[in-house]
This record gives sequence, structure tokens and C-alpha cells, in this order.
Amino acid sequence: MKSVVCHAAKDLRLEESPLPEPGPRQLRVRIAYGGICGSDLHYYQHGGFGTVRIRQALALGHEVSGVVDALGAEVTHLRPGQRIAISPSRPCGHCRFCQSGQHNHCLNMRFFGSAMPFPHIQGAFSEQVVIEAHQAHPIDPTLSLSLAALAEPLSVGLHAISRAGSVLGQQVLVTGCGPIGSLLIGALRRAGAGRIVAADIADLPLQCARQMGADETINLKSQADRIESYKLEKGQFDAVFEASGTEAALRLGLDLIRPRGILVSIGMGGDVSLPMTQLAAKEVDLRGTFRFHPEFATAVRFLNEGLIDGRPVITAVLPLNRALEAFDLAGDKSRSLKVQIAFSEETV
Ligand code: ZN
Repeated sequence: MKSVVCHAAKDLRLEESPLPEPGPRQLRVRIAYGGICGSDLHYYQHGGFGTVRIRQALALGHEVSGVVDALGAEVTHLRPGQRIAISPSRPCGHCRFCQSGQHNHCLNMRFFGSAMPFPHIQGAFSEQVVIEAHQAHPIDPTLSLSLAALAEPLSVGLHAISRAGSVLGQQVLVTGCGPIGSLLIGALRRAGAGRIVAADIADLPLQCARQMGADETINLKSQADRIESYKLEKGQFDAVFEASGTEAALRLGLDLIRPRGILVSIGMGGDVSLPMTQLAAKEVDLRGTFRFHPEFATAVRFLNEGLIDGRPVITAVLPLNRALEAFDLAGDKSRSLKVQIAFSEETV
């Protein structure tokens, strides 16, 4: 079987390896679709992000769906041929964070396609992958496997909302409307946000944000004046979700948020400097958010029931033999939001 393996920056290869066999509580899955995420792109373009570096060959990918191919002896609740979304989250279940329900902070996390630990945790951009049975979330017959592969980035948005708390009736700003920001907008709609303003520096993501439920979209390059009125009276937004990972957007968020508002930082843009006096004087709650765990099941339910339609987010699907091209396309933000790789013709 073939896998998409990153060896270093700009060194991405399609490699053959033997078919893996599932253990007693595992499944083997024929991967259908894999979405290329920002972190996959960072590994490909720069060999890592922040202090995280690729130090050994790493199969990329953690946004995947597939079809169950083989079951371990102890797995009784699934069947071969079942279509599933696959959670990339594999917490240990035993550490103090798992025991307190904070699985995303597991001390022994084995998250698919991550160079954070060493040895690295191999990803799921392979024709077949062995997963733990608990990673499999069956999908509805009406849901395409392509849309099912959006469960992971949608989960990131759901966890960001859970970090903010209730957004019911609130005026909310989302900065950065790529796949995560746009899926987050769909989730904010479901969570009862009163009014959603989406801001980005490009038109393509803003079109998507509008389709996902934003009430107003603002291009911060060509329509910068339109954001000014939201700065009045110490700021107009009850909550700000910053998904671009840029210092400029964080600073803008601090200008636009009302006193005691909640600013959730989703983007992983590295170290920035912040106006701490403004943050303190406005009593802003600046909150981090990182991955997810229980939210994956919620994301699959929303997709299964058609409560969030992720179709606007997917801008291209390329077959596995064009995986390198898919990565280059995903890196071109003027043309792409979510680019997916189709791993098997039979599931396309
Ligand atoms: Zn743990």
C-alpha cells in the first residue's frame, strides 16, 4: 500500500509499505479521503512549525474517513464495509488529564501525523491504516465520505466554542476564514450566536464564510474602513475567535472586543507580542484552545444529520497519485480552502 510520507521540508514522497494487521481491539480501514491541514502543510513547506521539527520520516494526515476492511477479534460493534469518520485523537485514558476528562491534554497522546513526540506518531495518509476501535465513528448513508473527513476540523471549531462558553445571542467576530474559521462559523450558528462577522484578507475564504452562515464579511485589505465602527465605545464584539494565527489579527481583536469579552486564540502562528495594558484595562479573557476530544462525536452527529453542511469548504479533491500537486494546491491560499486527497477510486 502507498503512503504520503514527509522526510523534510519540500521532500514529500509516495512510499510503499506492507499492509498492516489489526490487533484484537483494532480495525484496518481503507482510507477514502484525507484533508490537507495547516500542520501537514507546515511539515511539507518548512519541515515543522514553532519548535516542532520533523526528525524522522513522517506519514502525514489526520483528517480522514474510510471504510472498515478488517476487524480485530474483540471488536463486535462494527462490521466490514462500514463507512466511518476517523478521530485522530488517541489519548492514553490513564494519565491525570485523561482521568479528569481533559483528553486533549493527555500526557501520552498519540495524535495521528504529529512530530511533537519522538518517535513521531505516524499519520493516516495511507491507502490502509490500522486504528483503535474507539477512533471509528460510523457515518450516515446520506453523508459522503468526503464531507465526513471534515469532522476533524469541525471538531477544532466546536472545542473553540466550548472554550468560549455560551455565545447565545452574542455578537461574534471570526478572524481568519479558512477551513477551520469557516466550519467554526457553521458551528457558531448552531450554538446560537446572534450575529457573526467574518474577517479575512482574501475574498475566497470570505465567500465561504458567508455560505457557512456569517451575517457580514469584511475584507481587511480592501474594506478596512468597514471594521472601524466596531471599535466604538471600547469595542462591540462579545466574543472574538482568532483563527488566522497572526499578531495583526490578535491586536485587531483586542481593539474590537468589548470590556470583559472573551478572545479565543485558535491559530498556531508562533510567538507574538501583545498590548498587555490594553488587555488588562479592558479585562479581556484571552483563552487558548487546542485540538478536541469528545467534540469529534458531536461533529460527526452534526454532519450526519445535515445540521452543518461543509460543502463550501472543500475546494478540490485530487487522487492519491497527484498527492504532491494536492499539497502545492493547498498551499496556494488564493485558490484553495480545503484540499482533499482521494485514496481509493472505489470510494470516490
Ligand atoms: Zn492520557
